[in-house]
Amino acid sequence: MAEVETDARGTWLRLDRSAFYPTAGGQPNDEGELAGARVRAVESRGSEVWHMLGEGHVPAVGDTVIGLIDWERRHTHMQRHSAEHLLAQAFVRVGAARGVTDGGIPGFHTRSVSMRSADCTIDLTGSPDDEALAEAELEVNRAARRSMPVLTFEVDDARLGDYRLRRPAQVSGLVRLVAMGDYDIVACGGTHVSNTAEVLPVKVLGAESVRGGLTRVTFRAGNEALHDYAAKHAVLREVSPLLSAPIVEVPARVRALMDRVSEVESTLIAAFKHDAERLAERLLDEAGTSPQGRPRLVVSALAEEQAGSSSHSSNDSSVSRGAWPYWVSEPERERASRSSPAPAPKWTFGQRCRPP
Ligand SMILES: [Zn+2]
Repeated sequence: MAEVETDARGTWLRLDRSAFYPTAGGQPNDEGELAGARVRAVESRGSEVWHMLGEGHVPAVGDTVIGLIDWERRHTHMQRHSAEHLLAQAFVRVGAARGVTDGGIPGFHTRSVSMRSADCTIDLTGSPDDEALAEAELEVNRAARRSMPVLTFEVDDARLGDYRLRRPAQVSGLVRLVAMGDYDIVACGGTHVSNTAEVLPVKVLGAESVRGGLTRVTFRAGNEALHDYAAKHAVLREVSPLLSAPIVEVPARVRALMDRVSEVESTLIAAFKHDAERLAERLLDEAGTSPQGRPRLVVSALAEEQAGSSSHSSNDSSVSRGAWPYWVSEPERERASRSSPAPAPKWTFGQRCRPP
């Protein structure tokens, strides 16, 4: 153990060397144990890697410590990240085949990535349509199935021109390259699987336009893609019998159901309107006219069910009977009686007709 530090977040250790991956390049840090204590966070400060520990014994400087990395978590991150390499290359190829270029270079090109959750994203130049997205998904799975070895090696930046890098290296000096068979090669300091088949399957989930004229493509890889498939399949298996339809017919059945609901709603609204008009007739008949023969204002509070839709209106013919029909909601009637501010009524409808 080389150094220890404490801040508001906790106790931090620096080792002379560490296998823990710090948060970097859109990939979350490793977790696990160090000297028997839980590793809560791993961050890099320049070339140094610092580990934040949970509760437990803090070793002394000079002690030899053993670290255990949470392999499930690390392997998931490796699947996400390696799939991102392959998918980025797939989009270059799919874009190039369609004659798409960026700055004169063929293909859809990756500008940034995020792998902080199961739904990973890559931001691409250009606007791949649904067909291009589907092609890229086929392409990336086809490439991964070739079971290509993933090789990591370092070269001097003066020799970078010997390699067909997917994008220019951002670092100088000794540069770490990651090659996935003959399919993709790029400078990268992240963690990767050892064989491309480990990222299978890769599923493109969707795309949206984002700032800078880029397209954000969301995908899942490996175990997380399988879990997603299982969860969505379980939903469809539950819904399908409810609709008495095989899974492939679920969308059509749901659309037909929504059309039917809309039809029933229209019928109900028509029925409410009819009832409201009959009610208006009755109220006006009961009100009669004032002794001066002037029209009366008829006010009646209705239950919400009676009111139905706010689009209901009274029958204009009622005016000829010498009264103004006007309905208000219960809250509004209370407000009128108290003559004080009250919350807005839940609903109100009515029509004030011109006197004859
Ligand atoms: Zn990488």
